[in-house]
Amino acid sequence: MQQTSRRSSLTRMPVLPLRGMMVFPHMVLHFDVGRSKSVAALEKAMLEDQYIFLVAQKNADVDEPQLEDLCRMGTIAHIKQVLNLPGDSIRVLVEGIRRATLEAIVEEEPFLLADVRGIKEETLKETPELKALVRTTHEYFEEYCKASNRVSQETLRSVMDVSKADQLSDIIAANVLTQLEDRQAILEKVSVSDRLETLCGILLRETELADVEKQVQARIKKQIEKNQKDYYLREQIKAIQTELGEREATDIEDLREKMEETPLNDEARKKVERELERLSRMPQGTPEIGVSRTYVEWILELPWGKTTPDNLNLKRARKVLEDDHYGLEQVKERIIEYLAVLRMKKDMKGPILCFVGPPGVGKTSIVRAISKAVGREFVQMSLGGVRDEAEIRGHRRTYVGAIPGRIIAGMKQAGSMNPVFLFDEIDKMSSDFRGDPSAALLEVLDAEQNHSFRDHYLELPFDLSRVMFITTANAVDTIPPPLLDRLEIIEVPSYTEEEKLKIAKRHLLPKQVVQHGLETRSVRIADKVMRSLIEGYTREAGVRTLERTLARVVRKATVEILDTGATQVIVTPDKLREYLGAVKFLRDLPEKESRVGVVVGLAYTAVGGETLEVECTIMQGSGALQLTGKLGDVMQESAKAALSWVRTHSAGWGIHPDFFKQNDIHIHVPEGAVPKDGPSAGVTLATALVSALTAIPVKQSVAMTGEITLRGRVLPIGGVKEKLLAAYRAGIPLVLIPKDNEKDLEEIPAGVLDKVKVLTISDIEEVLQTALVSPLPSTSSSKSDKSDADTEPLPIPPAPASLPGAFGRA
Ligand code: ADP
Repeated sequence: MQQTSRRSSLTRMPVLPLRGMMVFPHMVLHFDVGRSKSVAALEKAMLEDQYIFLVAQKNADVDEPQLEDLCRMGTIAHIKQVLNLPGDSIRVLVEGIRRATLEAIVEEEPFLLADVRGIKEETLKETPELKALVRTTHEYFEEYCKASNRVSQETLRSVMDVSKADQLSDIIAANVLTQLEDRQAILEKVSVSDRLETLCGILLRETELADVEKQVQARIKKQIEKNQKDYYLREQIKAIQTELGEREATDIEDLREKMEETPLNDEARKKVERELERLSRMPQGTPEIGVSRTYVEWILELPWGKTTPDNLNLKRARKVLEDDHYGLEQVKERIIEYLAVLRMKKDMKGPILCFVGPPGVGKTSIVRAISKAVGREFVQMSLGGVRDEAEIRGHRRTYVGAIPGRIIAGMKQAGSMNPVFLFDEIDKMSSDFRGDPSAALLEVLDAEQNHSFRDHYLELPFDLSRVMFITTANAVDTIPPPLLDRLEIIEVPSYTEEEKLKIAKRHLLPKQVVQHGLETRSVRIADKVMRSLIEGYTREAGVRTLERTLARVVRKATVEILDTGATQVIVTPDKLREYLGAVKFLRDLPEKESRVGVVVGLAYTAVGGETLEVECTIMQGSGALQLTGKLGDVMQESAKAALSWVRTHSAGWGIHPDFFKQNDIHIHVPEGAVPKDGPSAGVTLATALVSALTAIPVKQSVAMTGEITLRGRVLPIGGVKEKLLAAYRAGIPLVLIPKDNEKDLEEIPAGVLDKVKVLTISDIEEVLQTALVSPLPSTSSSKSDKSDADTEPLPIPPAPASLPGAFGRA
């Protein structure tokens, strides 16, 4: 080995790479050596002059470091003592001598042999600058000690005693700095003042860090203390209350536990926490406890975050809809389209479906089938008669006995955030001084707003945006317009008898049989019998009464099965009569007597098509027109138009012009409690008027519909199918419809047209010709009141008292 005294020249010596530690000049310390190369290097040094080059590894994990794995600056050290430890390792005691740079590795086996260049320590001059640096270092060090609490008083004292600038930094770096990079940085500084400056920078940074650390620790400690204190106090309250018998000890804890398990939103969590806090402080027996607990329970029982996975397989959906419902092709197709869009778009934005049709045509049950097809929960809320906003949105908690509205209640019942939610009868909602429920409903249905629906009771935002809302209505015209705007109307038409037969056979009867706990096929009804059941015992647009009647049949059959021990009951016509009593509706009515002033009209109402009698009577008076039977504005105007047409033509039938001044006309549409409106009764009203005036009876086997103009033209109307079905149900063999409605006949099932003859008309005169039992007295120009022998006006009729048969209702 070369002489080490030639300091700045190259020296060749063994290298001992250090892992995670460092040796500074003037420092004596011992460490253990285990790696075989390091042991070999030590042995070599011991054989020579006992000098060795100690240098830190850049990465402590490298086992066989090469040149690039070692730091450049290291320390030449003198080995003072070597001690063999059990195993192959050695403990050495070394003293750092001076800094040296690693220049080259000349041998790698059996140990690292390197050329190192020793660095001569500069001769220090006691400049004021250096003195100031030493003082600053002392100050920073002291500050650091105060802030970090990591340095013992002894170390502090011994460091403060060191005044030699060249040693000070090394001592601090070796004893105090924890990070290897920091220490290496100090080792690498050759100039003493550089070294001190770098050290000051590091001390300053560490002091600041220590301060921040302290603050964080203090905060954590405080939080822990507060939690402990809260816990302790709560336990104390609990213990005291239990001691006083004031508390069911576990109650609030259960709620608290449930709260922890429920993924509430932030606002809800805060509310519940606060409420539980209040609750825990309330003494037993306070009525408020119940209120408060109910509130918390409501919140916790909502389906926060729970959803059911959607099954948007269209094939399956088609099958489910097909299995549950007969017919309704267009409705089903629209539902499939809706599901297809849902599958592509994955959000519920878009129009809300609204199934419109008479009662019992399957609106509700098809929605139920949708929920089944998609695999969502189903909730139903009927809006019929809802007139209070609070029903939808709940009452504020300040009300005694307040509860959430029915939307929230529905969500709780659904138990998931994405049910199918059906609003039934949205056309039957009304509003009054208690607020407008339709406004609240609008918010619920609006995709832009319903992600944070606020119930008055909960006072929390609740997300309804994943709910599939569907609505039903009997008629469109009573749906509030803003609501109607959001809805996509899908008409569900009423059924013909043929369709009813199929529905009854395929769905209603099997369903009833199962519901009564009987074996399938244990009640048999032949088509013919089923037909007479439908025709004789039901008269409706849908199939609800039919279902109820079948239930009755099955009930009776069940009794019979139990009584007789038979396995099957075959319902014969006789049995049907036995079960259900006498037939209620006769289809082929014996031709009713023709009547004066009474005409069968056809109307399209919320419950489907209906026959509607119009009565007209004339009595002595002063020319007034009286309308009764809850007629709407449009129907009243229709009546006036009909009267005007009649007046312009009445002279031609021999009615004296003064007649209208001396008599009152009263038109009544029975069933006064049901509101009726629309222009389609025009021809019916005109016919009734003409009949009453001329005393010519009207055939009761003719029903009619059509709007009338002042000139007697007949204009088209809506709901032809429903109206024809109504005539069919009522057993009326001839129906008059406007000529322009001829195209609507295409959608009428043939079975209906076989039984009901349809005549199209374009003028009221044609109606009168068909409906009146005898022709009008004269058909000459109506306006003329010039008398000649043939068309002498009839004398003004005397008071009706003397002519009851002719002018009144017979
Ligand atoms: P709505 O809601 O239109 O008043 P519902 O959905 O309550 O009528 O229907 C009444 C009953 O008739 C239900 O039991 C329903 O299953 C049955 N129903 C109606 N239409 C059909 C149909 N096309 N196929 C099978 N069953 C039907």
